[in-house]
Amino acid sequence: MDLLVFTDLDGTLLNHKDYSYEAAHPALEKIRSRQIPLIFTSSKTRPEIEALQSYMQIREPFIAENGAAVFFPDNYLNFKIDAGIRRFPYTVVQLGSEYSEIRQFMRSIKDRFNLKGFGDLSVEEIALLTGLTPEQALMARQREFTEPFLIEDESMIEELVPIAASQGLKITSGGRFFHLISNRQDKGFAVRICKEIFSRNIGGKTVTVGLGDSANDITMLESVDIPILLPRIDGSFEEIDIHNLIKADKPGSRGWNDAILNVLKNLNERSIDR
Ligand SMILES: [Mg+2]
Repeated sequence: MDLLVFTDLDGTLLNHKDYSYEAAHPALEKIRSRQIPLIFTSSKTRPEIEALQSYMQIREPFIAENGAAVFFPDNYLNFKIDAGIRRFPYTVVQLGSEYSEIRQFMRSIKDRFNLKGFGDLSVEEIALLTGLTPEQALMARQREFTEPFLIEDESMIEELVPIAASQGLKITSGGRFFHLISNRQDKGFAVRICKEIFSRNIGGKTVTVGLGDSANDITMLESVDIPILLPRIDGSFEEIDIHNLIKADKPGSRGWNDAILNVLKNLNERSIDR
């Protein structure tokens, strides 16, 4: 049995406020020693995820910008990926739109809805809004497929949804921002594609774990065998209706760590029982 772990980053593996994952070290160490693929599934951009992977010394496939694209590093376990397009140093399965198309729509509605996308904000403004360093904010601004935005009056989102839909777009929400994304993408769709590529290449049964904390994680949690929801920092949970949902005790990296250790322990006991 092969285990795959799909994880959201902000507010899940990384703490909401300080973006630290220090408390997740014991679980990360177990994942590393058992060579379990840890697949970041985030609204973050490719450059942001690459920086984090390199810092954590992880070389695994990842899903960027809310399921807009699945990136498989070149020569990853000698996988053959029929669906993808070579874009050095990856094979990429793209589900989302081009960023220029998203921006074009953004520009057409931003005055009417009083909204600001990352493309309208300076690096300094993004750093201030997110608590990221200027270097990190610069990478967050290097969008390829989707646009995070703030809207002055959140009750107007309802009015914006059908207008976006008429242009093939939809709106999802993460911990800090709304995101304007293609309606052909979501984290769940990308997770299923990724899982299929693994199954086809390694054969046998794969068991998938998913961890997330926000509305934009729902489709991912619906698409895995073991869905784990983390609480927000105030202890409340996103409203999600999945029958086998596991709720973590603590938010961020601490909750992530405990949840992963529990899953590994339970799977171990089950395989010993057999
Ligand atoms: Mg999150």
